[in-house]
Amino acid sequence: MTAPAYDDGNIFARILRGEIPSHRVYEDEATVAFMDVMPQGPGHLLVVPKAASRNLLDADPAVLAGLLPVVQKLARAAKAAFAADGVTVLQFNEGAAGQTVFHLHIHVIPRHEGVPLVAHSGAMEKPEVLAENAAKVRAALAAL
Ligand code: AMP
Repeated sequence: MTAPAYDDGNIFARILRGEIPSHRVYEDEATVAFMDVMPQGPGHLLVVPKAASRNLLDADPAVLAGLLPVVQKLARAAKAAFAADGVTVLQFNEGAAGQTVFHLHIHVIPRHEGVPLVAHSGAMEKPEVLAENAAKVRAALAAL
């Protein structure tokens, strides 16, 4: 089945345009990263290219090529910021695969030995906790 066209009213497009607040930790000319408001673990963040695409399937390969080094940088920073043992990187394509926001994004989730992930799109985190976690990631990025 053909996927619907990109809809620029999606919540990440609105965050990118500054219409909705987010806890931003990183920005460059092509990419933004901010904290996931329903984290699957402390420090869960999203890496979002500014270019419009629903997901990996319709993305420009040049955008994808630029995205992975940024994901690596954020994964290193998140691991350091939360003294994690590892980092889970996730990405979903279309509703059947678990995608709920239809602007390409990569999940970066610090992991600790023996601690399972919280459910996807579960409980909303308190803004003060997200702000504190964002500050930790920014500090870790600055120290990389
Ligand atoms: P996906 O299923 O990959 O599309 O995941 C979308 C993610 O976006 C989920 O983990 C949500 O918790 C997260 N999310 C939804 N709305 C917001 C928002 N306004 N700011 C930050 N993260 C969000």
